[in-house]
Amino acid sequence: MSISSGNRDNNKLTLFKYMIRRYKSLLILLPAFTLYHLSAQTPEHRVLACVGGKVYPSQIATPIEDAAVVVEEGKISAVAARVLFKLPASAEVLDCKGKTIVAGFWNSHVHFETGWHGAENALADKLEAHMQEMLTRWGFTTVWDLGSEPGNTLALRERVEAGQVPGPKILMAGDIFPENGHPVYLSPEMELPEAGNAPEAMLMARGYLSMGLDGIKLFTGAYMGNKPVVNMDAAIVKAAVDVAHALRKPVFAHPQNHVGVDNALAGGVDILAHTIPNEGSFTAEELAHMKQQRTALIPTLTLWTTVVSDSAVQDQLVRAGVNELKAFFSEGGTILFGTDVGFITRYDTTQEFEFMGRAMGWRDVLGALTTNPAEYFREPSKGRVEKGMDADFVVLDGDPAADVRNFAKVAYTIRGGKVIYSAK
Ligand SMILES: [Zn+2]
Repeated sequence: MSISSGNRDNNKLTLFKYMIRRYKSLLILLPAFTLYHLSAQTPEHRVLACVGGKVYPSQIATPIEDAAVVVEEGKISAVAARVLFKLPASAEVLDCKGKTIVAGFWNSHVHFETGWHGAENALADKLEAHMQEMLTRWGFTTVWDLGSEPGNTLALRERVEAGQVPGPKILMAGDIFPENGHPVYLSPEMELPEAGNAPEAMLMARGYLSMGLDGIKLFTGAYMGNKPVVNMDAAIVKAAVDVAHALRKPVFAHPQNHVGVDNALAGGVDILAHTIPNEGSFTAEELAHMKQQRTALIPTLTLWTTVVSDSAVQDQLVRAGVNELKAFFSEGGTILFGTDVGFITRYDTTQEFEFMGRAMGWRDVLGALTTNPAEYFREPSKGRVEKGMDADFVVLDGDPAADVRNFAKVAYTIRGGKVIYSAK
């Protein structure tokens, strides 16, 4: 580059800087004009706008008051203060005045088990009603099924993706149990895949992933009622983990006790699918190990109110679960929201938010619902209400900053720009 052209570039740069200073407000307005023209050019082009609400773009971002969230082609095309927009007359407007908008929620521990059989041929209306009751009315736009009949969940997923059943994006993990580790709470007629050695675990993991599942779940501790917990050896854990990790797929563990946690960590499991409240607390070694390996934790605190009938014991289990969550979180561990719904029949998420709120702030809970799983499971276009992201978001009747339980007050759930649940 010659000196003279360098000077010219410098001059251009100075002029550009001047223009930015001079027309800063115009530059801010530009996306709104672009949007207007785009939409005006193609009148059939569908535009959805949620207008008048308060947006929390992410767990860390500054809220935008009286905002508009504009959706085109399944993506968020703009998020800004409402006054900056001139929407096309054809835009479908959702009045969000007085409401709060956050990114679509992930439930990283569900089961399409109780009441979901025969999904391939069930009436779409029936599936939609159940989907609403269990998931979409609680704001879930992405879920992890951590163990059901795989063929049934895959058939359900196909019907959701084909647009027959409004529902969340469904990811699924295949279960592997330890030898002679058929948990007492699962019907004895169920034929469960039990791995007695490393080659068997590898074969099962490969089988699940080749049939289109997205991860593996290992019962590193199986609950046997009055008999001792049956644990899976760390070598068997590692064999399954190696298969999954070679394909960049995550591995979850149902730990049940300390040995189940320790073998999961020794074998390189990514996510603990529960706390272990019956043990009282995680050990310092476990916490250090989890931190070092960047293990994530799904607390499932409401679950502990359903496993025993004695309310004093329930309280004690919840207290221990909350303390484990607190200890793990204060070490900087990644928390993923999950409730084990579909195994438990309590679909309402209010209590889970209240319990989590005892260990974390509301913004941290928002992270567990949105940005944490999006990052952990490598879905960079999900987790935030920002321009260019997938149009997965939740409109709440209440501000979670005022009360963490307001995360359960869902007015609308939107996935890929489509309203998949409306409270009206
Ligand atoms: Zn479960």
